[in-house]
Amino acid sequence: MDIGRPGNDPATGIIGRFAPSPTGDLHFGSLLAALASFCDARHQRGQWLLRIDDIDEPRSVPGSADAIQRTLERYGFHWDGPVRWQSNRQERYVEALSSLVESGLIFACDCSRRSLPTGQVYPGRCRHRRVSDLPVMHHALRLSLSGTVYFDDAIQGVQRFDLAVDVGDSIVWRRDGLVSYALACAVDDADQVTHVVRGADLLEGTGVQLGIIEALGLTPPIYAHLPVAVNTDGDKLSKHSRAPAISELEPVAVLQRAWQVLGQAPLTSGSVGEFWSEAIPAWDIRRVPQQRRCVV
Ligand code: GLU
Repeated sequence: MDIGRPGNDPATGIIGRFAPSPTGDLHFGSLLAALASFCDARHQRGQWLLRIDDIDEPRSVPGSADAIQRTLERYGFHWDGPVRWQSNRQERYVEALSSLVESGLIFACDCSRRSLPTGQVYPGRCRHRRVSDLPVMHHALRLSLSGTVYFDDAIQGVQRFDLAVDVGDSIVWRRDGLVSYALACAVDDADQVTHVVRGADLLEGTGVQLGIIEALGLTPPIYAHLPVAVNTDGDKLSKHSRAPAISELEPVAVLQRAWQVLGQAPLTSGSVGEFWSEAIPAWDIRRVPQQRRCVV
């Protein structure tokens, strides 16, 4: 069956992605991002990549990357090319960091989280500690961010971040020696994809990632931020809020429910294959509610 495979028209050049962190099973909230990013790419006859965001090893749950792939397959998703693992991209992240160091934008910071004001941007305390060489041991590395970034989110509309005021100097390399999620995600998205469709809980992070992409002189993708699925208590569906793993549930019913939450016109499909053959041509991103959250 060829449903949802990319078309033969390489000229569309659209590349979308789904980028789960392997921290547990897929729940309904992640399915919304998978479904919307897949439909968005395939509707435009583009490619769709699966990237496993496994750089934060301490948070990774053994076996969950495999479980996520099995669930995606059971739900009828297929991705182009091999799975991309952030853990295989270390050299690229070091290269990006070196380029930021060369630009004179990186400083070493040893402020403990406790010593920083909560709920405010980083106050710039270590800004004078510019780094001119790598490696730097036992310090986090921050990127000086200033200026304004704008982007026109395909769902949420025009977004504007004053980097110094709204975002602050961001950690790009952690004190424990790991690349920060912001740097890894910014570099991967700029290098590999043209369209990012993900939850609106990541909207703030997009300001940081655009600051990084700009500092690196890379081309940003087009963004679309979906309403985040929350339960009736207002908690985001996640392992933390004890959202059920969708692997245990009936795929067609769950896909139909996600489709409805995303504001799409009703479909009649009775099987996973039928669902995709109807959903991909019918997908309309303009129907997705322009909200940051939705109760499911
Ligand atoms: N890896 C992130 C997560 O699972 C998503 C990142 C993204 O879509 O940009 O929450």
